[in-house]
Amino acid sequence: MVTSSLLAVGIDSSLDASPSEDGRRAPLRVLIGRDHRAIEVSDRVQELTPLRPGDRISFHPDSFLDPHEGAALRDAYRRVRRRIGASERLTVRIVDVEGRRREFDLVLSNGFADPSVGAIELVSEDVTGLRGRRVIDRLRSRLLDLLPTVVTVVDDVGTIVYCSERSRSVLGIDPADVIGRSIAESNLLPIAADQVEAIRVAAETTGRWEGDVELRRADGSTVPVQLVLERIDDDEIGFHGTVGISFDVTERRKLEDHLDFQASHDALTGLYNRQRFVRMLETALDEANDTGGRLAAMFIDIDDFKAVNDRIGHAAGDALLVAVADRLRSALPDGSIIGRFGGDEFVVYSTGVDDVAGVVDVARGLVDALSVPIGSGTDAVVVSGSVGIALSGQGAPAEELLRRADIAMYVAKERGKNRIEVFDDEVGLRKRRRREMQDELERALDADELDVHFQPELSLIDGRVAALEALTRWHHPDRGAISPIEFIPVAEESGLIHRLGALVIERSCRAMRSWLDAGLGDGLLVAVNVSTRQFLDHGFPDTVARLLDESGVSPEHLCLEVTESALVDADVALRALGRLDEIGVSIALDDFGTGYSSLSRLSKFPLDFMKIDRSFVANLDVDPASAVIVQMVVDLAHALGLQTIAEGIETQEQLQRLAAAGCDIGQGFLWSPSVTFDEATALLRNHDRRRVARGLRAGSYRGVQLDLPIGRQATKRR
Ligand code: C2E
Ligand code: MG
Ligand code: MG
Repeated sequence: MVTSSLLAVGIDSSLDASPSEDGRRAPLRVLIGRDHRAIEVSDRVQELTPLRPGDRISFHPDSFLDPHEGAALRDAYRRVRRRIGASERLTVRIVDVEGRRREFDLVLSNGFADPSVGAIELVSEDVTGLRGRRVIDRLRSRLLDLLPTVVTVVDDVGTIVYCSERSRSVLGIDPADVIGRSIAESNLLPIAADQVEAIRVAAETTGRWEGDVELRRADGSTVPVQLVLERIDDDEIGFHGTVGISFDVTERRKLEDHLDFQASHDALTGLYNRQRFVRMLETALDEANDTGGRLAAMFIDIDDFKAVNDRIGHAAGDALLVAVADRLRSALPDGSIIGRFGGDEFVVYSTGVDDVAGVVDVARGLVDALSVPIGSGTDAVVVSGSVGIALSGQGAPAEELLRRADIAMYVAKERGKNRIEVFDDEVGLRKRRRREMQDELERALDADELDVHFQPELSLIDGRVAALEALTRWHHPDRGAISPIEFIPVAEESGLIHRLGALVIERSCRAMRSWLDAGLGDGLLVAVNVSTRQFLDHGFPDTVARLLDESGVSPEHLCLEVTESALVDADVALRALGRLDEIGVSIALDDFGTGYSSLSRLSKFPLDFMKIDRSFVANLDVDPASAVIVQMVVDLAHALGLQTIAEGIETQEQLQRLAAAGCDIGQGFLWSPSVTFDEATALLRNHDRRRVARGLRAGSYRGVQLDLPIGRQATKRR
């Protein structure tokens, strides 16, 4: 016990985390006798150290002191002991009984000559916290200069009384130049006048203000800072004013900007995302409403993007979208903002719009920019876009404006894609009519208002009726005949196509059954149009098998016509076609030449007929290129083992050219439009195959007519 005590000795009165004021101030005093034993040990010393009265003082190194300090204290003790009246002051560090580091200013004095003492007296003061405070006091003024903030003090009349060194790097201001000047003339006030006013009010009321402001640097540039202001009213020193601390937040702003970019932009293309675009549009609309200006919103959708994406793969699809985004961005005039709503949907709004024509010009610029092939060589991809435009007005909110542009875009798709449509009431009307038509169509199906008519297809080889194409007819009680071009898309969109499609197959099979029963169905096909949505339905082949089964018609009498869009997803198409092939029905590719299937792809599919689109046939008379194309298509089809059917033959001239090209089958108003079941039955019965064949063989196809009992009537009806 004795050993460790000495150092404990000179100790304490300090500031530290726990001790009470009393503890810190309590006297630290030890009296040491000639025999080196403690005569008196103050309570505080006993609290902090193991030293007790009667203990022998030791300077052993494994005491509370580190060895160096132990030696210094021991030397001082020796010196003081030898000379009456001597005293020495030194600082020692110890670890107290609780293990806390403490620092003491200690005075050793020789009091042997003083009868009231009669010993070596050791008195000390705990300076543990004081040292730090002293350092801070020393540093205080420099500390302000070291902080990464500009500290300014302004008195009540607005004179800058202090400005820290950081003003040099943050604002390019030399403190010496501003001290003594008015704050109003300095760069130290926010640029925004409303903030200056808010600060003035705060200074008079709460005395505190905090916020982000922009300050102007000496070179004229701006810097964002976080500003904290606090009133100082110090009567002791007689100062009244404000201290301001400006923290340069440039870096924080950069990070915030980065995060904001991520939250407001589409990661793939870097264009604004939906949320941000709509918010900007809302603001722009408010401004336009205030100033009486106009604004246009556009929806741009890449035509058949899904098909392109499936064909080139998703990675290339993404790259394509990026390229499209770049194209669109660079084709936009100033004052236009572009965003992407996901997928291949791009949106634009333009401010300062004068008239529709101007906006259409902008849209045309976009469409033109898209029409240039993207990429080069064999990798080049050609896309087109459909654009819908809506103009602001009547206070329509952003969402409504976008909805209108979207509707107009859909109309552009409906009207053949790669085009621009402007939303007007007609467009809205169309949309409504479409919805009405959907309800009407459903009702018509319930009420059995749909009819199936048949149009003959004749062999150009031997003149027989090779097939009858089933075409659905809707005679609306009020609106009269509605074209399938109008109602089939509605049926597709609403899903009614499954019901409608099954109905047509059922009626067609029933008709075929009657023709077979009447001995008219030998080698005859009934051809039924199948929409893509219907074809892609998993259950479709089973439905076909069931309907054939129920009607007792064998599958070689049924042909299904699909369009190229049904083959876009090759895997799905192959699965469906494989099943249908197993069932034994034949397949015709309808409207060939209007889609985008590459010729090489066609060889993959088990097809039986290729129907050359009416547009090629129609041009045969006028456009030599069409004749070449038709010849190529016929040759290609034959090379793939398919028979060709030409649609829409209206003139002898067309028929002649088609026959010359080697086309196998023809269909068109030249012979007959679609007719009712009864008319078709009569037609089959009366048809003079040899007469047609004779005409064909003679090469002069003039006068070749079907022997229709109903004559011109049917032709007129179309
Ligand atoms: P499609 O399959 O290409 O049918 C041929 C269309 O051309 C028919 O029009 C037919 O009346 C018409 N047409 C035939 N010969 C000529 C001609 O010489 N000149 C002209 N200008 N036109 C001719 P329709 O009946 O209006 O049908 C239009 C389209 O509607 C069809 O085109 C087909 O894609 C679709 N469609 C018709 N019925 C159905 C159906 O039951 N189901 C499905 N999914 N689609 C159908
Ligand atoms: Mg067809
Ligand atoms: Mg067709």
